[in-house]
Amino acid sequence: MQFFTSSETVVLSAKTCDRCGCHAKMAVDDAEFHEFLSVDRQAGYGSIFGDGNRLKLDLCQHCIKDVLSQWMTVSDQCQ
Ligand SMILES: [Zn+2]
Repeated sequence: MQFFTSSETVVLSAKTCDRCGCHAKMAVDDAEFHEFLSVDRQAGYGSIFGDGNRLKLDLCQHCIKDVLSQWMTVSDQCQ
């Protein structure tokens, strides 16, 4: 015998870049959506952002390149 319970599922369906405002909807073949850099974390003790404060950021791949590329290392897979 099996028993089932109904539940509501929340699924991420789109992202908007916090810098340029570009919007990408979730789709298996949508590179723009999948190449976002997303940060969602709680600052810890001693953080310059304030202990316990929440840090959230979504950047599209174009803004990642524009803003962070000077410090990034881009290499082939598995290196
Ligand atoms: Zn952007």
